[in-house]
Amino acid sequence: MTTPSPYPHLLAPLDLGFTRLKNRVLMGSMHTGLEDGRKHFPAMAAYFAERARGGVGLMVTGGFAPNIAGWTKPFAGMLASTGAARRHKQVTSAVHAEGGKIALQILHTGRYGYHPFCVAPSRIQSPISPFTPRELSVAGIERQIRAFIRCALLAREAGYDGVEIMGSEGYFINQFLVTHTNQRTDDWGGSYANRMRLAIEIVRRTREALGPDFILIYRLSIIDLIPGGSSWEEVVLLAKAVEAAGATLINSGIGWHEARVPTIATSVPRGAFTWVTKKLRTELRAAGLTIPVITSNRLNMPEVAEQVLADGCADMVSLARPFLADPEFVNKAAQGRSQDINTCIACNQACLDHAFKAQLASCLVNPRAAHETELIINFALARKRIAVVGAGPAGLAAATNLAQRGHDVTLYDAAAQIGGQFNLARRVPGKEEFNETLRYFGQRIERSGVKLRLNTRVQAADLLGQKFDEIILATGVTPRNPRIPGQEHPKVLSYIDVLLGRQAVGQRVALIGAGGIGFDVAEFLVNQPGHSTALDLPAWLAEWGVADPGEVRGGVVRPVSTPAARQVTLLQRKPGKLGAGLGKTTGWIHRTALKMKNVEMLSGVNYERIGDSPDGGSALSLFISFGAKRQDAAVLAFDNIVLCAGQEPLRELLEPLRAAGISTHLIGGADEASELDAKRAIDQGTRLAAQL
Ligand code: FAD
Ligand code: NAP
Ligand code: SF4
Repeated sequence: MTTPSPYPHLLAPLDLGFTRLKNRVLMGSMHTGLEDGRKHFPAMAAYFAERARGGVGLMVTGGFAPNIAGWTKPFAGMLASTGAARRHKQVTSAVHAEGGKIALQILHTGRYGYHPFCVAPSRIQSPISPFTPRELSVAGIERQIRAFIRCALLAREAGYDGVEIMGSEGYFINQFLVTHTNQRTDDWGGSYANRMRLAIEIVRRTREALGPDFILIYRLSIIDLIPGGSSWEEVVLLAKAVEAAGATLINSGIGWHEARVPTIATSVPRGAFTWVTKKLRTELRAAGLTIPVITSNRLNMPEVAEQVLADGCADMVSLARPFLADPEFVNKAAQGRSQDINTCIACNQACLDHAFKAQLASCLVNPRAAHETELIINFALARKRIAVVGAGPAGLAAATNLAQRGHDVTLYDAAAQIGGQFNLARRVPGKEEFNETLRYFGQRIERSGVKLRLNTRVQAADLLGQKFDEIILATGVTPRNPRIPGQEHPKVLSYIDVLLGRQAVGQRVALIGAGGIGFDVAEFLVNQPGHSTALDLPAWLAEWGVADPGEVRGGVVRPVSTPAARQVTLLQRKPGKLGAGLGKTTGWIHRTALKMKNVEMLSGVNYERIGDSPDGGSALSLFISFGAKRQDAAVLAFDNIVLCAGQEPLRELLEPLRAAGISTHLIGGADEASELDAKRAIDQGTRLAAQL
């Protein structure tokens, strides 16, 4: 008797006629930076091979430009010659050797190109690039179409199983579709038939050149999320035309890059846009068209993906970042081990934020991602007894990887549960995904045989008697004391007490410090207790102004936020914008979310003192001045002041252990608190574990 599949829809094969995908999971295209250098091709081959081995049905590479005009940035990855195709063979053969399938994404950036050679339907600069594009002539448009066709043929020559034509996210093809970026008056502009001509010509002529037995995915923007975006009739018309022109699969694109609606951040509810794919699929099926449709965005666990397919939203799901977080996602799902999946928490910190800074991408929860050839967790040659003190992200990464390598590991934490500061982070509305990382590490501790000692505050003497070969201090941080006169007032609270709910907080609150924690505490305080729009799709859609694209062109309306639960003021000493140090791809979301809740933001502040109200009232007074000259003195009244003024390393065990001659290592916040985040903590813990 065969055991029933744990995810019958997700793991069902998909027959494409000339070929068959082993399941319904597509690894969506992600720019890792490996595309952009010849020297990275062996690493790229290892990266995709590991994910093919993990069981995914079909993968799509990061975007490759079909010509220089289509570059993302100068000298970005491009496939335009037989020499380049030869280099790609190492990727395709590594994937095929693992039984996988892979398609190359053809990405022409148009006016999003970060270089002076960018082109577009009209000479209109995008709000996210400093370069104004050159308006293409008719001959120029023909050259771009030929470049797409050449790129697809070279992809086949390189051994790929297919191509994905990137027609969404506001890139080149998308720019032709809407009048916002296409103001041409020739055959390529004006009526929708003219504006969609480019998309159709590219698909039709590419299919003609390739023949019938090659996967051709068209990524179609189903909801532009920009004012003046495509209407629903246009989306449906395009989907039908793309199918007729020879596409094998239609993938869903959500939002242009310049949209002011978050589409993949951690505060976006899981599966937030699958209803739009369902709407399109329903239209196609009603018209008798059977082309498989793929849905995407914030699908990060098999349960969510299965439900989406079971609900008839799509025929396939596209997961991208979850494959950075865990290459074995599909195999684990198939074995009924979804609890062992290292879940993508949608933080963007090591993937998208790196891509925007021209750094190689990786993953906060899996530092091996895109570094497979360099960060190797081998079985250790000699078994050591190792103590890890602190079960925050750094200690968890170190302990579990050390145990996986065969070492005898004891992990101590003073707290009653693992996680360190992630136990605070997970309480912030919109950061619920952080729970998944704690669940994952909990599983790994059990499976790898780490001896976990909770509720155990370790002293140096406790460790000295136990003959450990190595001791790792991952004891984290302690909040910085900002030494503001009067801060010992009982109404002045620490962020820890506030997030743990150990202290009641009044209606008017000042937050001293506007780093990551200041912003998170503000988010915590402006939302009603227990409410998070990340868990409430209708509320989230309203808050960000996402509407049914069937009713409103582009699917955007004026955002409607619920009133703030409190009046919060965020303060910092530095002049300039608050939150400037937050993630490149998420900082704007945090700032916008707080502005929607009328959070006041003050910079260039000097904290003179804290005291009782001068008029004898119950309010707490914060005496401030501004700038180096300490001018514009003001007294602000609050019910509470919360200190979020940064952190300092906690490493009191170091000296006695080193003095006793024990090999002792510092990782995470215990090593360096400045600019610490979980990305660095996990990376440092993993790298140390790989060496010991
Ligand atoms: P910690 O997480 O501080 O863990 C240290 C552990 O050591 C603690 O569990 C402590 O109990 C234990 N310990 C200390 N001394 C002893 C002892 N003597 N004996 C036994 N145990 C001991 N980072 C991000 O990257 N992205 C985010 O979005 C993010 N959001 C955050 C939101 C909030 C509200 C907070 C507070 C932090 C956030 N961070 C975020 C920061 C991130 O959580 C920290 O950078 C990370 O936890 C540091 O890891 P660590 O292992 O070095 O230390
Ligand atoms: P932080 O980002 O370094 O911010 C500290 C804040 O305190 C700053 O606003 C700083 O601004 C202020 N400050 C510093 N010294 C002060 C002093 N002596 N008196 C008064 N104010 C002072 O640190 P954090 O907010 O504590 O966060 C800790 C770490 O967790 C950070 O490194 C962060 O990356 C990480 N984290 C990340 C996220 C995320 O979403 N990625 C979220 C939360 C936390 P001024 O000096 O200008 O006053
Ligand atoms: Fe997901 Fe964050 Fe890893 Fe990116 S860095 S893949 S968003 S967990």
